[in-house]
Amino acid sequence: MEKYSGKKICSGVAIGKIKFYVKEENQVIRKKIINLEDEISRYETAKNKAIEELGKLYQKAVKEVGEVNAQIFDIHSMMLEDDDYNESVYNLIRTQSVNAEYAVAITGDNFAQIFGNMEDEYFKARSIDVKDISERVISILNGVATNTKISDEAVIIVAEDLAPSETVQMDKEKLLAFVTRLGSANSHTAILARMMTIPAIVDMDIKEEWDGQTAIVDGYSGTLIISPDEDTLDKYVRIQQEDIEKRTLLETLKGKEDITLSGQKINLYANIGNSTDLASVLQNDASGIGLFRSEFLFLEKDDFPTEEEQFKVYKQVVETLAGKKVIIRTLDIGADKQAAYFKLDKEENPAMGYRAIRICLTRPEIFKTQLRAIYRASAYGTVSIMYPMIISIKEVHKIKIIVEEVKAELDKDKIPYGAVEQGIMIETPAAAIISDILAKEVDFFSIGTNDLTQYTLAIDRQNAKLDDFYDSHHEAVLRLIQLVIDNAHNAGIWAGICGELGADLTLTQRFLEMGMDEISVSPGCILPIRKIIREIE
Ligand code: PEP
Ligand code: MG
Repeated sequence: MEKYSGKKICSGVAIGKIKFYVKEENQVIRKKIINLEDEISRYETAKNKAIEELGKLYQKAVKEVGEVNAQIFDIHSMMLEDDDYNESVYNLIRTQSVNAEYAVAITGDNFAQIFGNMEDEYFKARSIDVKDISERVISILNGVATNTKISDEAVIIVAEDLAPSETVQMDKEKLLAFVTRLGSANSHTAILARMMTIPAIVDMDIKEEWDGQTAIVDGYSGTLIISPDEDTLDKYVRIQQEDIEKRTLLETLKGKEDITLSGQKINLYANIGNSTDLASVLQNDASGIGLFRSEFLFLEKDDFPTEEEQFKVYKQVVETLAGKKVIIRTLDIGADKQAAYFKLDKEENPAMGYRAIRICLTRPEIFKTQLRAIYRASAYGTVSIMYPMIISIKEVHKIKIIVEEVKAELDKDKIPYGAVEQGIMIETPAAAIISDILAKEVDFFSIGTNDLTQYTLAIDRQNAKLDDFYDSHHEAVLRLIQLVIDNAHNAGIWAGICGELGADLTLTQRFLEMGMDEISVSPGCILPIRKIIREIE
């Protein structure tokens, strides 16, 4: 038994035989051509056929992974119609009297190199796309079929790299998982794998000798186990069984409303930390995103993410949710969430220290960059913003001034944005107690019970020794929650919960009785809560 680790792309477990996938290289031979205009029309015919194939692939992908994720095939069609690309092919044919295959191969290589050398990660990743479209045209010119047949039995694909078109063309029934040596978390192949919910690992040192061997792909940890022993096999068969049980539950509850038997409705949303959690949001049929912990974008970097970098992630989340609500929480750095480049001082009491909105209001350049990115993304769907660790009305007023400045700058730059609901997290006793006053200033409340419990009970949530004292059902916390909901409703706004307590199934009925309007939990908890909601009178 041997274990290898890589970067996990999509969770789940697959057990099966490995198929080492080697792309069939198109042989391109340089030939001298006499009738150049005939060769150009040969290219045109092949290109049009490729565009037609991509149109079919787009339709297939829309059904399997949704419109937004299928767009890569639209982009491929557009690349084939790009003037620079076509000019390069025509010029090579006309000036060097070469065959169309050769002209396309050279053009593809050149463009792939140009993209590959770009700084921007998005454009860098397009290098494989331009190679992919060129290969498709060459295959057509060579008269070779472009469909990707994997195997007659279901297998784990191990490959150097996979192009988006190869991934989507693979027969889902035959594809248990995939493992590649290349590939990034941002590549469309990775996005498609997540959307297709295929366990996947990239960035692994692969070996051709694995071909035909039995293996386990643990997409939860990014581990590949070759020739597992019996105990390991048993363990993973059990995990698979649990996954199947969960999925069965998922299937029966998917598409159902979050409504009690007597007709009380509640919004059941998902908590996420990054766009990589989106597949799970869709799989678990969340009605929206109730907490996007944006600080994770900052924690995985060595320096501040730029406005553009943030915008891309927010836009991807918003577009994937296709009109459903996405509540982005502004940066909640500090305390246990530290990033060296913020250069925060070491503090005696970090949980009660310089964190979250306190950093944003004293370092407005960081705050404004994030707000601009969120507002720009709001043009692509339904976005709400909420602010963490609020304790006073003064903070809300300061936030409003900064938000107005950001909007004015966007107006000046003629950058579109949508109507953005403004909310605050209620996670300090101070905010809960003055929630009647705060409710007049904002559009919604989201109760962060993790911190609200920590501050109400004076118990450091990081201190494992105090776990027995950290009573999240403490009457003081539950009374504060009720107070917040009542004050919200008196002012005509809505209130939700996004702390871990929201996933406590023993409290679901109580939250409904309290009048909670929304519960936001990690994606995997959505369907068990939906089940309870639908059984409550
Ligand atoms: C909370 O405090 O309940 C909350 C949702 O925020 P976090 O857990 O990120 O502090
Ligand atoms: Mg919190």
